[in-house]
Order: sequence, then C-alpha cells, then structure tokens
Amino acid sequence: MKIIITQILIFFSCIVYAQAAKPKVLATCSIWADMAAVIGGEMIDLDYIVPVGSDPHLYEPTPSDLLKVSKADIILINGLTFEGWLSKLIKNASGQAKSILLTEGINPITNTEHQNATDPHAWMDVMNVKKYCLNIFKSLSDLDPLHTEEYRFNLDLYLKELDALHQFILLEIEKIPNHKRILITSHDGFQYFGKAYGLQLQPLQGTSTESDVQSATIVKVNQIIRKHQINSIFAESTINPKLIQQIRQENNIQIGGKLYADSLGDPKVEAGTYIGMMKHNARIIAEGLITVKNKMNENEQESKTFIYLGIFLFYLITLTLLFLVNRK
Ligand SMILES: [Zn+2]
Repeated sequence: MKIIITQILIFFSCIVYAQAAKPKVLATCSIWADMAAVIGGEMIDLDYIVPVGSDPHLYEPTPSDLLKVSKADIILINGLTFEGWLSKLIKNASGQAKSILLTEGINPITNTEHQNATDPHAWMDVMNVKKYCLNIFKSLSDLDPLHTEEYRFNLDLYLKELDALHQFILLEIEKIPNHKRILITSHDGFQYFGKAYGLQLQPLQGTSTESDVQSATIVKVNQIIRKHQINSIFAESTINPKLIQQIRQENNIQIGGKLYADSLGDPKVEAGTYIGMMKHNARIIAEGLITVKNKMNENEQESKTFIYLGIFLFYLITLTLLFLVNRK
C-alpha cells in the first residue's frame, strides 16, 4: 500500500513540476499573444496585459498587471513607442522578466506626425509579422531549449499561413479600382498596411490616440471624400466611433465596417486571431470601397421608384375624383 501511495505522490508531483516548469510568457497586447500561442502551444504559460477591445495607447496598468509582470520569465513587447506605460510598470513590478523586442529586424516607418519618431503599427504588414514570429521563436527556444523542435515545427507551419495571408490581402486590395484606394480611419494605424498593400491613408488622429483631432484634418478629410467620391470610411474596434459617424453624416456616405488595428476581436469572432483580424480588415476595406456605392445606387433607385409610384397614384386619384365629380 505504501508503495502505491508513494507512486501516486511521485506521479502528481511530476505533473505539478511539469506545470511549474512551463515558461511564463507575457505579451503586452492580444495580437502578439496570439502569435505566441500558435508557436508556444501547450508548452508555455501565456498571458497578456491590455484586454481585448481596449486601446493600448491610452492603457493604464492595474495591480493585477504588476503581478503578471513580476511572475513572467519574458515579456513580448512591440516597442517603437507603442507601450508608453510599460517601463514604469516593469520598474514597479521589480521582477526578473526579460523584455523581448518583437520589432527587432524590421524597417520602421517614420511617424507621420513627428519626423523624429517611428510608427509602432508594424504588425499591419504581414511580412513584418514573420520577423515578430522569428523573434518569439528565438526567445522561447532560449528559455526552453528542450522544446526547440516543437517550437520550430509550429513556427514553420505558421510562416506558411502568413505567406498565404499576405497573398490573400494583396488580392483583396487589388479588387479596388486604383482611384478608390483611399483608406479613411479613426487613427493612423494603417501606414504599414497601406505601404505593403497599396492604399493611401487619411486618418483623423495620429499614430497615437492621445492627440486631439485637428479641425484642419477634418476639413482635409471632407475635401478628399468629395474630390475622390469616397464611398466608405472606417471605424476601429478600440476607438469611439463618434467622429467617424459625424463625418459620415456630413458627407452622406457609409461606414464600411469596424477595423481591427490595435487589438484582436472577441475570441468568438473571425478577428479573434491575428490571421482572422487581417483577413477581416482586408475584406471589409475591399467591400466598403468597391460595393457600397452600388448599394447606395440601389437605395437611390428604390427611393426614385417610390416617388414615381406616388406621382402615378396622385394622378390616378385626381382623375378618379374628376370623373366622379363630372358624373354628378
Ligand atoms: Zn494604434
């Protein structure tokens, strides 16, 4: 009996040890947490800081974030000024976590507002994300060399999926006529996307949502909409759509849909993964810039039909009344 109990205890202690031995990986944002989940699979203990749907530019860390940072082995960060709140959080947590810069090796775009700063939204170009994933792989295999082969296997599969995603986006954007390839969004989160896939950008806010919207920008956006007869402008999942709705009303155009730039969507929707989010964005942008005008035309046709029907009924009733009056 004692032997059996000893064996059971050894068995459970092995399980506890195996769980405790998993590398503790903390991502600042849900987008690269998803990449780490794909590469690390069940072999890592993964968490992230900014909740899905929250704006990482304006994020204020909570006491539970301090705990997460203090326990982490590595923190996956974007850098390029994206996580302005992070250095203070790491300092206050006084943990041992090593920061892994995922944008290491990419060519950053210069910030459109500040010439001496970089645009942080590098993940909007899928080719950059291949470098994010290589950096995640290296950090995991350094931390946990016993599982390097498994990490490598997951990475290779994912890189192939990213190549397919890149082609998918190129084909979607190609469907939009050249003169319609103008993307108007809430904030400047799509410069890398525009550069990689051939779209001109006109955001309302800068690369960070901290700055106020300038009235000159609104005037410029309205001019562009009229000049290029833009059919759709786009809201973003982490930003209040009030201003986008105001511009939509002023120009009598449509909101093409909700784009995901700084956060994944809810896990239940397509945008709940990085690949899903990028496919969703490409599809919504293409549909919005190509087809909404046709839908508007259909609506115009419908309203015209109602007007003609009304005029016809008016004449019919008038003639009937005249006929009845004359009979008397
Ligand atoms: Zn952003």
